[in-house]
Amino acid sequence: MFESISNLSIKAKFISKDFFIQNNIRIMDYSLVEEFDQENFLIPNQTHSTNVILSNIPGQINNCDGVFTTNPKITCLIKVADCMPIYFAHKNKSFYGIVHAGWRGLTNGVLNATSGLLKEHQQKLKNFDIFIGPSIQSCCFEICNDIVEKFPQEFVKSAKSGKFLVDMQKIAVDMLRSVGFNKNKITISDDCTFCLKDHYYSYRRENEAAGRMIGLIGYKA
Ligand SMILES: [Zn+2]
Repeated sequence: MFESISNLSIKAKFISKDFFIQNNIRIMDYSLVEEFDQENFLIPNQTHSTNVILSNIPGQINNCDGVFTTNPKITCLIKVADCMPIYFAHKNKSFYGIVHAGWRGLTNGVLNATSGLLKEHQQKLKNFDIFIGPSIQSCCFEICNDIVEKFPQEFVKSAKSGKFLVDMQKIAVDMLRSVGFNKNKITISDDCTFCLKDHYYSYRRENEAAGRMIGLIGYKA
């Protein structure tokens, strides 16, 4: 899944099993993440915001939807169920992170905030490999009239139902390219979380009963 990440010191993983036991962020099933340092997770308390931070200290960050670090001991971790987990990995340095991007974060500018953060830390955006993990795709991401205006129209199609289908992954790639990342270094998982019900949780399919999958990225310290 992560062939697109060229930095061989980076470990990245997507887990579609309940990691937070009973959705409690303090109780975790560590057996699922044995290859990562169990003591040093950096976890945003996600709110569909555009807040993206860099921290070299582990812990939870309130009101945040993307976390980066340069500390090789730290593993960045987000939760998803249909939203896109977007992994960023510098091609040869210990500089990496992960962003939670649903339609709200995306249309409000979470990727713009991400590029701003990396530039603030003197990074060239073209040095990052990007992977968009399993998420709801244009076959299933149906929206109503009320929010259709929020999306670039070239990535919206009319559905038979009278509603609209939106290609979130293509919007994300287009936004990443327009803020300065290299389009050729972006890979998208083919997996639609809504279609593949035996493999993934889907908020759209299961509503409140949906579990949460996690995306992790860390470094071989
Ligand atoms: Zn689908």
